[in-house]
Amino acid sequence: MTKRPRTIRRSRGATEVDELIHIASSLALSCTLVEDRFWQDKLAYLVAEILNDEDEEALNSALDTLSKTDPQAWNELADIVEACTETHSVIIDKQENQAVMFAVPLLAWSRFNIPSGPLGEDRISSLRQHLAEHVFAKEVKFSMADFLFSPDQLPQGYCNTAKLSKLLAGLTAENGTLACEQASNAEPTSFLTDTRYLLGAIAAPKGQALFRWQEADHSRKDILAQWQKHGLGSLQSLFAGCAMESLIPLSYFAAWRESDRASRAYSLRATVAFLQLSLSIEARQLSCVIAACHGRQLEEYRIGFIRRNEEPMLHGVVWPLLDGEDEHTDCVAEIEAILRESGINDIVNHEHAFPMDQCDDCGNPLFPNLEGDLLHIETPENKETPSPHLH
Ligand SMILES: [Zn+2]
Repeated sequence: MTKRPRTIRRSRGATEVDELIHIASSLALSCTLVEDRFWQDKLAYLVAEILNDEDEEALNSALDTLSKTDPQAWNELADIVEACTETHSVIIDKQENQAVMFAVPLLAWSRFNIPSGPLGEDRISSLRQHLAEHVFAKEVKFSMADFLFSPDQLPQGYCNTAKLSKLLAGLTAENGTLACEQASNAEPTSFLTDTRYLLGAIAAPKGQALFRWQEADHSRKDILAQWQKHGLGSLQSLFAGCAMESLIPLSYFAAWRESDRASRAYSLRATVAFLQLSLSIEARQLSCVIAACHGRQLEEYRIGFIRRNEEPMLHGVVWPLLDGEDEHTDCVAEIEAILRESGINDIVNHEHAFPMDQCDDCGNPLFPNLEGDLLHIETPENKETPSPHLH
């Protein structure tokens, strides 16, 4: 890569951006594990410093540049930025421990509101007991945040996330709880389906297991089943009037990605259940129409739900493409399989490309009908339904 001309007066920020790009590119070219570790350590050190200085701009600017010029280096840098954001070194019993922020994603749907906010002592202590028993490795110490986070209540950006993970890491030694009343400022937006997160940090000495599946004889599948069966009893009262299921607890960014992926199928199933319930019909009376929506490239699929042979657009689900997916990924087959499992047999997939059209008034996406027009959702005439929005 050719070097850009250097100006004489450079801000510290610009130097750091160049340095991030240089080290990440070197890491991408590295030829052996020993060299990998050399560059990884250098990069982690610099990223930790930048997070400490709260220079979000430097991280984003390096990531932006690499995403256009060197996808492999972008990947390396993103990995290290995420790791440094969620991981802190803490001393427990005079020994160095690695504390990693974890998240438990909860997928929920409701015709009413999906809860968020403080959990309270009893729920925290029950969740803590089940996490220790079913999910985390023996002997780990962990802290929890006393708050059920909606996506817009999570800290925005790497630097704010690192600040929260540092607070949680600092409480691991005493198996502490972080009070988070201040997080309740942002009222969550009301959707039919949404995600909630439990957060905390787990700590273990370097080289020791954090999660139960790192120990012998435990598979992730069994651990998830045990957690789903026993772990969430204390949340039932909070989620009254909602359907809710938990994904497996993971380190923060991995949990986030996993919930993005899982919430697509969950939204489709929830919409089928919601329409059956609110219109008192069976799934086979519904038709689904799939459109591939393009911005500069394929960005998302939109699935319109209509009653067989009848006009109004009852509901719609957006199925966004995730990292690494494109028009060659067979999302349509996945979407169709989920709809068929839910009892919908009448599925139309329009072959041509659609625009990313949305409503000029409320900004909500428009959804495809049988004729290939993009339409606004018209809420089934149930006044209690909080969304979507009517004009
Ligand atoms: Zn609108």
